[in-house]
Formats: sequence, structure tokens, C-alpha cells
Amino acid sequence: MSARFYEFSWDLIGNIEKGRPHLGSDMRLEVYRLFQFTVRDVLERHLKSKEEVDKIFFEAGINAGRQFSEKLVGRQENLYSFLSLLQKKLQEFKIGILRVEQVSQHNANLIISVEEDLDCSGLPDSGAEACHYDEGFIKGALDYQTGDRYSVKEIDCWCLGGRTCRFEAVKEE
Ligand SMILES: [Zn+2]
Repeated sequence: MSARFYEFSWDLIGNIEKGRPHLGSDMRLEVYRLFQFTVRDVLERHLKSKEEVDKIFFEAGINAGRQFSEKLVGRQENLYSFLSLLQKKLQEFKIGILRVEQVSQHNANLIISVEEDLDCSGLPDSGAEACHYDEGFIKGALDYQTGDRYSVKEIDCWCLGGRTCRFEAVKEE
């Protein structure tokens, strides 16, 4: 068995201040989407199915949501404090504008929207929700804070004509 090379760690991201003294940490959003869609293009050709590609992005999103929460938000006393801190961080990093629209008793069911989403805001209508990575990201964040397991599904998306992305999170039994 060979050791993992890409098991995620923030060390993989490197020292941006040192590495980009003139350009810094900003770049154009087109570059992020170019990266995503070229990776999707290759994965779809290799895996021969859109669903398989979406699954990989969903899983990567779970990893990202957990890592981001752990490093940049931290576990909070309750879900409410966690989500308001997460909201601040997502805005600071220009990932999107998160709003918690509904929370049911015992946090069993949440409706969360993300406006101006990094992944899909402005994309052409495609008749299919596009934010599998974000679904995973929200799941990773919620699971990290609560220690529970949530199912997260996008129920409105820019790409469905909704002009905002909306996610339903349901705590698993
Ligand atoms: Zn979306």
C-alpha cells in the first residue's frame, strides 16, 4: 500500500504571502470556474457519467466544508453561533452570501440559501441544479459542528432559474 500524497492538509496550499508577494491571494473568478469545468470535462470523459462526476464534487465538498470549518470557524457553543460565524467567513472569502431561512426544532431540518454563489451564480440555465460541491460543503460544515450526520440537497439553484441557491439539510436518524 502506498502512502497518500493528496490527503488534504492546509500545508498543500502552501505559503501564499511568500509565494505571491505581488499578486497575493486574489484571482479572477473565471479562473476558479475554468479550473472546475475543465476538471469536470476530464472526469466526465473518464467516468462516462455526469452523476459520477457530481458525486465526486459532492464528496470533495464535504471534505472542504469540514476543513474550512475546522480551520476558519471552529466548533461553537451552538449551531446558531456557528452559522453566523460561518456566514461571516463565507462573505470574507467571497464564497457567497449565506442566509439561514428556517430552522426546525432541535435543528432537525434547515433551509439555507446562498446568494451570489461562487460556483453557479450567473451560469446559463441548465435544467439541473449545479451546486453539488456546495451541498457537500454545507454537509461537511453541519456535521463538523454538530457531530451528527446531515443529508443536504439543493432545492433551488441559479441554474434552475431561481437566481439563488437554496439547500435543505435534514438530520439523519
Ligand atoms: Zn446552485
